[in-house]
Amino acid sequence: MKQHFPAILLALLFITGCTDRSNVSEQESTTTAATTISSFRDDENIEEHTASTSSEITEPTQGISSEPTQEPEPDIISTEPPAPETTPAETTSTTSTTIEIAAEPPFEYQDLIVHFIDVGQGDSTFIELPNGETMLIDAGEREYGDRVVAYIYNQGYDTLDYVVATHPHTDHIGGIVDVLNAFPTKNFYMTSYVNPTQTFDDMLTAVENNGAAAHEVMAGAVIVSEPELLVEVVAPKALADDSNNNSVVIKLTYGENKFLFTGDAEKDEEDGIWTNIKCDVLKVGHHGSDTSSTKNFLKKVEPTYSVISCGLYNSYGHPDEAVLKRLYDRNINVYRTDIQGTIVFRSDGKDITVNNAPVEYTLPVTTTTTQATEPQEEPASLTYVLNTNTKKIHYPSYSSVDQMKEKNKAYTDDYAGAIAQGYVPCKNCNPTG
Ligand SMILES: [Zn+2]
Ligand SMILES: [Zn+2]
Repeated sequence: MKQHFPAILLALLFITGCTDRSNVSEQESTTTAATTISSFRDDENIEEHTASTSSEITEPTQGISSEPTQEPEPDIISTEPPAPETTPAETTSTTSTTIEIAAEPPFEYQDLIVHFIDVGQGDSTFIELPNGETMLIDAGEREYGDRVVAYIYNQGYDTLDYVVATHPHTDHIGGIVDVLNAFPTKNFYMTSYVNPTQTFDDMLTAVENNGAAAHEVMAGAVIVSEPELLVEVVAPKALADDSNNNSVVIKLTYGENKFLFTGDAEKDEEDGIWTNIKCDVLKVGHHGSDTSSTKNFLKKVEPTYSVISCGLYNSYGHPDEAVLKRLYDRNINVYRTDIQGTIVFRSDGKDITVNNAPVEYTLPVTTTTTQATEPQEEPASLTYVLNTNTKKIHYPSYSSVDQMKEKNKAYTDDYAGAIAQGYVPCKNCNPTG
């Protein structure tokens, strides 16, 4: 955005070959710090970070994070509706989080659309902001880059305004290379945590080639701030030793509706979040791993909806049974990309609708209830049956599918995704993608 350009020039002056980052923060009052890729990828820098202690790693961020964290939390949302009298009542959605006083967004705003793209075992969220801008948070493994690019094109976009790399793990940043090579991008965001891997290096090269303005962000940074629309970084507060707990956690507010995107944040990072994170929709941290989504955290977020992005029968056991239980115990609707494919949420600033029904909670096999004897119904829309034991893909009509144990069965529409998870087509029924 326009206001970043002076910041970039200043950052170029101060950051390149200069270790005193306090200068940068002095110049950065409201926008996020812009930096150059050369500072991320400088060989000396990378070695320093690899070999250094955690205190050395956190040092460079203090300059950047100290300024934004002192900012009062913007409370532009729904307290002062600009034009409350003209509110056509068009509530067609099924579920709602409506509170009585509705703030009216500027009339030219479109719906906010949040796409949790199915990228197998990974994360990728494409957001059509109500002001017409676009944001992509992560892009899955490298092999899913094409899919993410195609998906965004199919929504009618050929540029991106904001691309966020939550943290350097390949299941989040791998596909960003293809995305940045495909779309002219205005702004790129990550923390200053570096990870000297080939994928990380490829991503930085892609940022450089793209020409996107690169910003280091920490808790307190604001990415978009407009009437009724706010995109802010709520974590990490300080750099941690491990990649997951450095995930850029983003809170998106549109009118009365709030979304929280957590990357792979685990308990430590969740516990460190200081701001109000009560949200309607939670992107469940770390693919539903038990390292994340603690009871306390879920209590703070109190979501109506949750989305777990993971690969079908991935080798990590995501989502963890304990996490599912914590979600269902709190009556949170659960959506899963491994079972349902891409999940799309739409918000008009008041009500939220989803393109799918929530996934029913399947009780653990050991539990004896009246439902336990009912056979698991096969989802009608899913084209393939997976044998999670033999790792075979079958057509549902294949005779031996009936003989498979229910606990070994999984269903999917995503043939390529199953192959990516290590499944092989059955030689008898010979399913194809
Ligand atoms: Zn991950
Ligand atoms: Zn991770």
